Amino acid sequence: MDLDILKKALASRSGARLKLWMEICARCGLCAQGCHFYQSDPRPEHVPAYRLKPLAELMRRKGNVDEAFMQELVDTVYGTCTMCQRCSMFCPHGINIAFLVRATRALAVSQGMTPQGLASGLANALEFGNNLGISEEDYLETVEWQLEELQGEMPDARAPMDKKGAEVLVTFHPRDIKFYPQNLYNYLKLYNAAGIDFTLTSSKGWDSTNIGLFAGDDPAAAELAGRVVAAGENLGVKTILSAE
Ligand code: SF4
Ligand code: SF4
Repeated sequence: MDLDILKKALASRSGARLKLWMEICARCGLCAQGCHFYQSDPRPEHVPAYRLKPLAELMRRKGNVDEAFMQELVDTVYGTCTMCQRCSMFCPHGINIAFLVRATRALAVSQGMTPQGLASGLANALEFGNNLGISEEDYLETVEWQLEELQGEMPDARAPMDKKGAEVLVTFHPRDIKFYPQNLYNYLKLYNAAGIDFTLTSSKGWDSTNIGLFAGDDPAAAELAGRVVAAGENLGVKTILSAE
C-alpha cells in the first residue's frame, strides 16, 4: 500500500458534493427498498447506506488505514453493489450512493486493488477495444454473418461499416457480439425497419460499455469514452447510439 497516494486520491475525491452527501445521510434505511441485494438477502450490510461506511471511516482516519481495511472496502464496494442507482430513487435526500461507491472504488484503484475479474475486462477493453477481448476479425465476421441472416428476411437490409456522414453511429455491448448474436440481428432489423441512416465502426470505439467507469478507474474511463467519441467525430455523425 502507498498511503501518500491513497491520501492524495482521497483529497481529490473529497469535493463539496461528496462531503455533503456523506454528512446528510440520516441512516434511515429507506434506500434499502430499492436495492436488489437487500431485497434478495435483507441483511444490514446490504442496506445501500452501508456502502458508505468504508469511505466515512477513511475520511475519519484521514487515509491512515491498513491493507486489511482496504480489502474489506474492496469487498463492500465491488462485491455488494452494481452501481445501478436505484436506491437513490428512494432516498429522501437524493443521495447518489452509486456516485459515492464509485468514488470509493477509485481509492481502491489508487492502490492497485481492482478485483481481478474487472481488471482483466479492463485490460481487454484497453487492448482490444471491448471488455470481452473480441478480435476485430471476429467482430466484423459476426456483423457480416448476422446481416446475411437478416437479408434472408429483409433482402434490402444493410449494416454500413464506417459510413462517413451517417446520422447515427450505433455501438454495442460486447456480450451481444460474443454470446447473443441474435440481439445484433434484432438491432440491425430495427434500424433498417426504422429507416435510420446509421453506421457501425470498425475502430476500437464500438463497445458502448465503459468498464473503466464501472471499475472506478478515471484515466481508463476517459480513454474508453474518448474512443467512442473519436469514432463518432471521425465519421461525422450527429448522434452516437449507446446499446447500454
Ligand atoms: S435513504 Fe438516504 S438518508 Fe436514508 S440511509 Fe439511505 S442514503 Fe442515507
Ligand atoms: S446502486 Fe448499489 S446499493 Fe444502490 S440499489 Fe444499486 S446495487 Fe444497491
